[in-house]
Amino acid sequence: MLLSCEIIELNNEKCRLITLNDITDYKKMEDKMASLERLNLIGQMAAGIGHEIRNPMTTVRGFLQMYRNKDSFIKYKETFNLMIDELDRANSIITEFLSLAKNKPVNLTLKNINRIVQKILPLIQADATNNEMVVEVELTEVIDLLLDEEEIIQLVLNLVRNGFEAMTAGKRLKIKTFLDGNQVVLAVEDQGSGIKPEILDKLGTPFFTTKENGTGLGLSVCYGIAERNNATINIETGPSGTTIFVRFDDFAGML
Ligand code: ADP
Ligand code: MG
Repeated sequence: MLLSCEIIELNNEKCRLITLNDITDYKKMEDKMASLERLNLIGQMAAGIGHEIRNPMTTVRGFLQMYRNKDSFIKYKETFNLMIDELDRANSIITEFLSLAKNKPVNLTLKNINRIVQKILPLIQADATNNEMVVEVELTEVIDLLLDEEEIIQLVLNLVRNGFEAMTAGKRLKIKTFLDGNQVVLAVEDQGSGIKPEILDKLGTPFFTTKENGTGLGLSVCYGIAERNNATINIETGPSGTTIFVRFDDFAGML
């Protein structure tokens, strides 16, 4: 609340005029702006530092790969494999981090979201089988949209991975597409344990994670991808699971 007080005269009598203004919305906006600014800064740093770190890593990886196969190092083969795997993990974190950069160029072409989902389905299915989980798809024929295919693949994989990570063996994950008004919607529905209300606000903040081995980059990358592909993300969650809705604006259809 913003409180102000003033003495005024009414019928020759001194009175206090007190006003109370509800500034909740203003405060909320202020928080939002601050977090946007942080995101922007992180994005710029990501673009600047990412490349510089990657180049030396490529050299190190190259030598490790070469020595791994040398006879004199044969007993250390497992260690070499581990070092290469760790470098690859670091590299994939940098890749995710880089895609936070705000001015990342996008390659928007007319694509059908169903075809993209079908393309990566074998990968998702394999992941599900590994985790003893079930994947179901429910694709409704939808119009083509202006999309960056690579980015949409990353978005779907990030959401699906989060779904798997929230579930236990035997549970089911559903990938759906449908039309809602003139919006094409992609939904990823899991039977996980849901997201606690106190966490909901923090989702999408880079590096926010509740997982021991999480990077906390998956969702913030998704928010960036959604923005660049003219989509918005909504979350519905409860004790029986979480559904993430990605709603695409129908710009292509208006042409
Ligand atoms: P990470 O997966 O590395 O933790 P993300 O940005 O992908 O990072 O997710 C951030 C956090 O959001 C997760 O740690 C988890 O707490 C929560 N979360 C995201 N998706 C789900 C989901 N489908 N079910 C439950 N929690 C989720
Ligand atoms: Mg994740």
